[in-house]
Amino acid sequence: MRVLHVDQLFDNYAYLLIDEAAAVAAAVDVAEADSVLAAASEAGVSIKALLCTHHHFDHVGGNEALIGLLGDPGLEVFGYAGDAARIPGITHPLADGESFEIAGLRGCSIFIPAHTSGHLAYYFESQGVVFTGDTLFAGGCGRVFEGDAAQMKASLDRLAALPDSTKVYCGHEYTQQNLDFALSVEPGNQALQERVRAVAELREAGKPTLPTTIALEKQTNPFLRCNSEELRASLAKRFPGLSDDPVEIFAAARRLKDDF
Ligand SMILES: [Zn+2]
Repeated sequence: MRVLHVDQLFDNYAYLLIDEAAAVAAAVDVAEADSVLAAASEAGVSIKALLCTHHHFDHVGGNEALIGLLGDPGLEVFGYAGDAARIPGITHPLADGESFEIAGLRGCSIFIPAHTSGHLAYYFESQGVVFTGDTLFAGGCGRVFEGDAAQMKASLDRLAALPDSTKVYCGHEYTQQNLDFALSVEPGNQALQERVRAVAELREAGKPTLPTTIALEKQTNPFLRCNSEELRASLAKRFPGLSDDPVEIFAAARRLKDDF
């Protein structure tokens, strides 16, 4: 199996999850159907399934065009069952923890609400790959639009509990901005300093900064580091009286990042 990035809109990524032996693929979060189809045809694969992490237009805005252009009545479109009304063309509504098979691969849904109330991650255990949409970003996390801080923290904790080596593919190329914020609240974190340099090199070469890994996120992503003393101390300077409660620390970090 291999994963192809497809640039979408300004800073979004769609992905093609490819089973090379069968020459089939699943597309993840399509905003612009044309470029995803072009990437599939260049790779010599046909798209058999579409995975949707959440209902925002920059993740499902290309669903109808893709369905129309493929003209395949057998195309399987996956999304969260409770949000089916907002996922155009959905054929396979999933609950939390449901297994499914696409493009010869077995995946599993992980319900991770808070950015939106119906957000899913798609986890492929045997391949060690997870698609996290706008919940876990490289070096950051999504804004909390349809939930609260406790819910977002719980969603991130579920992803952080995946094996360290899991490759993480998220919905946007936000890594550099996220790491700028991370460094502002945890300047002494050596792994973070190294990552800032590595990411700058990738961006200068015009390359994506993804995938990341769960291990790297646990070392450098402030939203997974509510137990870091340095992070807590930085936040306490901005929010006097901040307690040791991880949800409160998470909420303070998220509020600061919203205005960063
Ligand atoms: Zn979104």
